[in-house]
Amino acid sequence: MTSRTTAEWQAADARHFLHPFTDFKDLAKKGSRIIKKAENIYLWDSEGHKILDAMSGLWCVNMGYGQQPLIDAAAQQMKELPFYNAFFQTSTTPAIELAEVLAEVAPPHFQHVFFTSSGSEGNDTVVRMVRRYWDVLGQPNRQVIIGRINGYHGSTMAGASLGGMSGMHAQGGLPIPDITHIDQPHWYELGGSQSRDEFGITAARWLEDKILAVGPDRVAAFIGEPVQGAGGVIVPPATYWPEIQRICDKYGILLVSDEVICGFGRTGNWFGCETMGSKPDLMTFAKGVTSGYIPLGGVMVGERIAKVLIEQGGEFNHGFTYSGHPTACAVALANIRLMREQDVVRKVREELGPHLAQRFAELAKHPLVGEVQTCGMMGAVQLVKDKATRKAFDSALEVGMVCRTHCFNNGLIMRAVGDRMIVAPPLVMTVAQIDEMADLIQKVLDLTLAELNQRGWL
Ligand code: PMP
Repeated sequence: MTSRTTAEWQAADARHFLHPFTDFKDLAKKGSRIIKKAENIYLWDSEGHKILDAMSGLWCVNMGYGQQPLIDAAAQQMKELPFYNAFFQTSTTPAIELAEVLAEVAPPHFQHVFFTSSGSEGNDTVVRMVRRYWDVLGQPNRQVIIGRINGYHGSTMAGASLGGMSGMHAQGGLPIPDITHIDQPHWYELGGSQSRDEFGITAARWLEDKILAVGPDRVAAFIGEPVQGAGGVIVPPATYWPEIQRICDKYGILLVSDEVICGFGRTGNWFGCETMGSKPDLMTFAKGVTSGYIPLGGVMVGERIAKVLIEQGGEFNHGFTYSGHPTACAVALANIRLMREQDVVRKVREELGPHLAQRFAELAKHPLVGEVQTCGMMGAVQLVKDKATRKAFDSALEVGMVCRTHCFNNGLIMRAVGDRMIVAPPLVMTVAQIDEMADLIQKVLDLTLAELNQRGWL
């Protein structure tokens, strides 16, 4: 790599690199922050600043940076067999072994996997597989898939359609046909005077209303994230997922759990559906399967669907060059081995998650904070103008971005979703590092409060 100054890197970046989910012109004006290296839970930028990465990269570097077993696994596999495909009656040993291991860590009714390179491709696979399933069963009218407003399922045509992000639907003629949405189980915004548990039932019943409106014999599947991630770490009431499961069962509709963020220990179980109490037919995964060291995603296929596709199906006309990429699979195997050796999932459930919850409960006392939510190693801090009435700031003020700038300037990566500040830190954090992060969050909240006061926005 050539040695250049930060300004030189930024200029080259602006000249040639179109960044994802970015206003290109605006970024060129501001200049990117150039990240140069990382170790454990810390990053260093090109100016030598040390930054605590409370977002695990992009919800993916669950085992932290610099894990030698993952690096070695990639190098060794690249030497032996960097790539071979899984088309035309061939297979590779890392892909076979990973499929076996995934069947071990997933709930027992998942014995099969379809590999992709990303979460978006996983959800494209879901759409095609769900529709194929109903076709094979002689019910081709079952085409409609129900997602949720403010859900996120990726950025391909199908992924962005399943998701319910209005900004994404506004570009490119989305959603594609036969995908529709219900509202999200976001008690703080939509719960009104109902208790959280009452609201959980209300929000789940929106699914039943939608099924009846579409016609039960036309609905193929419902898809949701156990905990909405990109939507703002929205932890649904405990009553929500069991009621969703009951409704899907009642109408024979397939349930899809998008585990791209919640899978691989994030919520304190291997998969988020186990924490939330649902038994999905399909699970999309990506990110944490390799701790983000190399792209890999896929769909775990439950026995209900696998049986039909395998025994009755014929050819499934779908797949990718990199479905079962041996190097990616070798890294995933090393990652899961390390997770098991270090007992990471139990630690999240019994030690780290509870400690994060306790530290966030303290943040809830801050005058700017309307609510906090955590689930395992993910958390949200909702900034509000008036705690008592849950009154939000004018969205044009972009208070979340004010707070994010203070995070940036104080060595902390936290994400702003509107005025909801979120974290999903590495699962290898120590209790002391959770304290370090919580202290930093307290500091940036104080700085944000001071700035809002100074601007007269409170
Ligand atoms: N589903 C969920 C729940 C996600 O959070 C994401 C990515 N943030 C995706 C799907 C898409 O994954 P990818 O970006 O790997 O395509």
